[in-house]
Amino acid sequence: MQFNYIANAALPSSSGRTIAMLDPSDGQPYDEIQRSNASDIDLAVRAARQGLEAVWRKLGAAERGRLLMRLSLKITEHVDELTAIEQRDCGKPTRQARADAVALARYFEFYAGACDKLHGETIPYLDGYSVLTWREPHGVTGHIIPWNYPMQIFGRSVGGALAAGNVCVVKPAEDACLSLLRVAQLAVEVGFPAGTINIVTGYGHEVGDALARHPGIDHISFTGSPAVGTLVSQVAAQRHCPVTLELGGKSPQIVFADADLDAAIPAIINGIVQNAGQTCSAGSRLLVDQAIYEPLLARLGHEFEKLRVGPAALDLDLGPLIRQSQQQRVWDFLSDAHVAHIAMVAQGKVVDEAPQTGFYQAPTLLRDVPVTHRLAQEEVFGPVLVAMSFRDEDHAVELANATPFGLVAGVWTADGARQFRMARRVRCGQVFINNFGAGGGVELPFGGVKSSGYGREKGVEALYGFTTLKTVAIRHG
Ligand code: NAD
Repeated sequence: MQFNYIANAALPSSSGRTIAMLDPSDGQPYDEIQRSNASDIDLAVRAARQGLEAVWRKLGAAERGRLLMRLSLKITEHVDELTAIEQRDCGKPTRQARADAVALARYFEFYAGACDKLHGETIPYLDGYSVLTWREPHGVTGHIIPWNYPMQIFGRSVGGALAAGNVCVVKPAEDACLSLLRVAQLAVEVGFPAGTINIVTGYGHEVGDALARHPGIDHISFTGSPAVGTLVSQVAAQRHCPVTLELGGKSPQIVFADADLDAAIPAIINGIVQNAGQTCSAGSRLLVDQAIYEPLLARLGHEFEKLRVGPAALDLDLGPLIRQSQQQRVWDFLSDAHVAHIAMVAQGKVVDEAPQTGFYQAPTLLRDVPVTHRLAQEEVFGPVLVAMSFRDEDHAVELANATPFGLVAGVWTADGARQFRMARRVRCGQVFINNFGAGGGVELPFGGVKSSGYGREKGVEALYGFTTLKTVAIRHG
């Protein structure tokens, strides 16, 4: 049984109710989390405020940095344990779960070093005046986190918020959150003051909504679907609470005829199979120069057929999807493809060891998908890659920008001038040229445009979002 973490104490929810956690690899319940409600959120917000005023606000920036660094080291000591928790909770193959645990430690390392490097400015003004700006923390920040990368998203959002001097109330996803409850314990062990990191579990429409509405929350970082992002920002707007929205994507991989295909192919495959396609920045649309469309699809098809899907512990190319409704969602998209006579190039295989009760889906490559079809427009959030060809650069740009989303784009070309033109013309938050998110990108600002959201997390840029600017004008004669 898992408990909430409020003011450094493990607490049951006031409702006394719990939610069963299912293992996506076999669909069976294996643990329970608290089904909290608005009163638990209220308790957490009060604890956070008290922690802020009593201790956190008074710590120097370097001291905050040392605490974050201690947590980073502690997470590193517990990487195996956190890997095992995330693997089972999310159904991630071992290597992917481990990469997330390592990334979590890296986020806290990065933000530990950033705490005392967040500077204001002095501004030339009237004679006899001195003007300066301070970057002040919002105060109590709320963090609503999805199930696909609990540790990574906690690292980038809570790490950045703490570094900027805020205290946090976290609402993780009801489908996967056990790693975060463990990290909260580790934070207590390394000496985080009570009220700095509070975690309240439960359903989105109950606890997430209560968090977004709570007048004691000074800023909300929401990562999740566009639909819920709309709800959260509407609720927050009623009290003019600032919100950062990290939403979905339908990101293109754009391959020109002069691309290095040996480099592109593994990145294209990884971009859609990582975490079984349940990644906001998944490269889920493949736009290919018509001159190499057939040979590239043939090579990719060959690679897709080799992909294997199975229980997380087998550490294959893909694990299961998170839950049955997600599996059904992917099936619905594939059945729409069938009805529309969209051709399948190739599919990977679910291994025989995969229990029938698990939520498996073979990775699938579809071709000649019309740009207006929902498979080319909507986020599937599963291992489905849709391919289409383009005539020239203008056509590639037109297709790339032809969805409601704008999160990430991959561009594969050897032509340096074209690399810059494409980077300028594709509407999105980040463009990767001849790579697709290599290296994890803890240091790189991340976020979207259009329905992919607004605001930036990761990197130093996140610290600006987690602070508010105060201008101080002094007349001294
Ligand atoms: P979701 O929107 O259903 O849930 C996200 C979180 O919001 C969960 O914690 C959920 O409990 C909570 N929630 C649900 N209803 C709520 C409400 N009414 N008020 C407040 N909170 C509520 O999304 P999901 O299915 O968990 O995650 C998948 C989505 O997240 C995809 O669209 C994906 O692209 C997106 N995502 C984006 C990023 C990014 O950085 N841009 C990263 C990861 C995931």
